Amino acid sequence: MYVYRDYPEFSWSNSRHKTFLECNRKYYHQYYESHNGWEYEAPEENKAAYRLKNLKNIPILLGDEIHKVIDRQLKNFLNGKSLFTEDDMIALVTKGLNKAYLDSTRFRMHWLQKPKRYQMLHEIYYGNGLSPDEISSAKTKLQLCLNNFFRSKTYQDILNKLEMHVLHSEDFQTFEVNGVDVFVVLDFVYKDVSQGKWIVVDWKTGKESEEDRKQLALYALFLSQKHDIPIEDIVLRNEYLLTGKSQEYQLTQFEINSAQVLMNESIYHMLGYLENPARNKPLSIDQFEKNSSNKCQRCNFKEKCEVLTS
Ligand code: SF4
Repeated sequence: MYVYRDYPEFSWSNSRHKTFLECNRKYYHQYYESHNGWEYEAPEENKAAYRLKNLKNIPILLGDEIHKVIDRQLKNFLNGKSLFTEDDMIALVTKGLNKAYLDSTRFRMHWLQKPKRYQMLHEIYYGNGLSPDEISSAKTKLQLCLNNFFRSKTYQDILNKLEMHVLHSEDFQTFEVNGVDVFVVLDFVYKDVSQGKWIVVDWKTGKESEEDRKQLALYALFLSQKHDIPIEDIVLRNEYLLTGKSQEYQLTQFEINSAQVLMNESIYHMLGYLENPARNKPLSIDQFEKNSSNKCQRCNFKEKCEVLTS
């Protein structure tokens, strides 16, 4: 049941941590100012932050739509339903992208009223629209990603393994660390019974990054804490859909402990920006420093910082 709260509940996630590191002001808009922005009577600055929080640029939207259609395909398989072809999946993602484009160009007024129900593309909201290059690169990326999905080690395993137990399929999961709710989104977790290993799969539609391994360490922490799975039985796998590369890791207890230390430090710094930690009431906006950088052009909240679109 929905309960009105003056301030949001405090929780931690890897994306919250990344936003906090990138720019404290962005963190304020995203995690505090947008709170209650869905309420009819909310002040305009909260409504605006809530709307802006929901903007998506084409690469983010494309990644979300690809994750969604892969999740549907895996559920189809697990529930014994007929499977999509590659063309079916491309058509479903394209439909999602087209809807976002139509919402952004024809239903702007609707989006202003209901930013969760309608979508707005960052590229259109901030005025430049979509260039032919951006459209053609999104199409190429979509085809590559889905083509590589069908050939991926994970999908082939799922189709061919005789015995497999599935734990999660793209569900939001929480666990508690030192009294704080921690959110993780696990794309897919299955047990390869023949090897006695749990495989944690993360589909990646972007480029490889050093962050990827750290993110997987949190997933291992979640599985070991919430499901009592020994660390040595967990295999972490990044499936890079743009290139078709599959990268596996087995982390040591030391790396998992380091992930926990990093999380504790991150939480400690975040709590330093609260006027009232018991209520999760933040300090005033001017205490959240702006970190102006070349990332401002892509920031959802750039109108609040009066960053001119280049
Ligand atoms: S526009 Fe730049 S300074 Fe302003 S919130 Fe975004 S990232 Fe921070």
